[in-house]
Amino acid sequence: MQNIGFIGLGIMGTPMATNLIKAGFKLTVWNRTPEKCKALTALGATAVASPRQVVAASDITIAMLADPAAAEAVCQGEDGVVAGIRAGKGYIDMSTVAPESAKAIATAVRLAGGRYLEAPVSGSKKPAEEGTLIILAAGDRGLFEQAKPALEAMGKKILFLGEVGQGAQMKLVVNLVMGGMMTMLCEGLALGGKAGLASEQILEVLDSGAVANPMFRMKGPLIAQGRFPTAFPLKHMQKDLRLALNLGGQFGQPLHTAAAANELFKAALGMGLGELDFSAVSRVCER
Ligand code: NAP
Repeated sequence: MQNIGFIGLGIMGTPMATNLIKAGFKLTVWNRTPEKCKALTALGATAVASPRQVVAASDITIAMLADPAAAEAVCQGEDGVVAGIRAGKGYIDMSTVAPESAKAIATAVRLAGGRYLEAPVSGSKKPAEEGTLIILAAGDRGLFEQAKPALEAMGKKILFLGEVGQGAQMKLVVNLVMGGMMTMLCEGLALGGKAGLASEQILEVLDSGAVANPMFRMKGPLIAQGRFPTAFPLKHMQKDLRLALNLGGQFGQPLHTAAAANELFKAALGMGLGELDFSAVSRVCER
């Protein structure tokens, strides 16, 4: 069985790493806040003191970090991933980052003699727990094949999209759509509420027709109750919209609706809602 390293034990990383242990992989872990390693060491993982030590102990190291700044710092910082890379080692970054960040990380890993795969995921906390993520991989095909058993322990659908950057771009397109859908649901519920419609009935009507979808079904009742237990932090959704808008700028693609959605999420951040679930953007719509 391969030795796997895991860096970044947040909302997503912890259940993903847990599924790797359950699948029988020998796991070495690191997290910036060391206490979060405890859930994994209780299951048999070994916690070490730096990303470099994770890479040194592992055939393949996986990262699941907050944003481009975190992903680049962990890769290229002191005692970072690159410091531990040797020929034959693989690094897979599953964080949602900009394509240019993925390319910069890929170059740094390759220059150090390693192999790189980006593999951002679609699917939130529950699919991470259930091992049913959609994995959007791109980069080193050989590493992709080698890592298949590990990726299969975390995901139900595993795509190979080509050159590094294509995974990041696919992920940003998906979250642009999701961010827009969420703001429209929240505005619809807010307008309906002011017009005297019952939110349960609005949700029932939406769920009965062509716009029915699992996200509305799952988040709708919670929004109606004003409850926002964090599965996907609002601050990360705003980060993804910001990155998607940058991508639109690079390709000259107007993104009218995404730009409007981004303003709502920025306002929500300004209201201190960044750590709540991204559905808390509803608070902005209700004002
Ligand atoms: P999270 O709970 O906020 O976890 C973020 C992780 O990054 C934590 O381990 C955190 O360490 C670490 N980190 C942040 N800044 C760092 C730095 N400068 N140096 C080292 N480590 C740093 O986020 P998450 O929800 O698991 O999401 C992780 C990634 O997956 C994000 O890119 C997100 O956009 C993406 N994603 C999330 C979801 C979701 O539904 N949650 C779904 C798909 C994709 P500490 O513990 O020390 O803070």
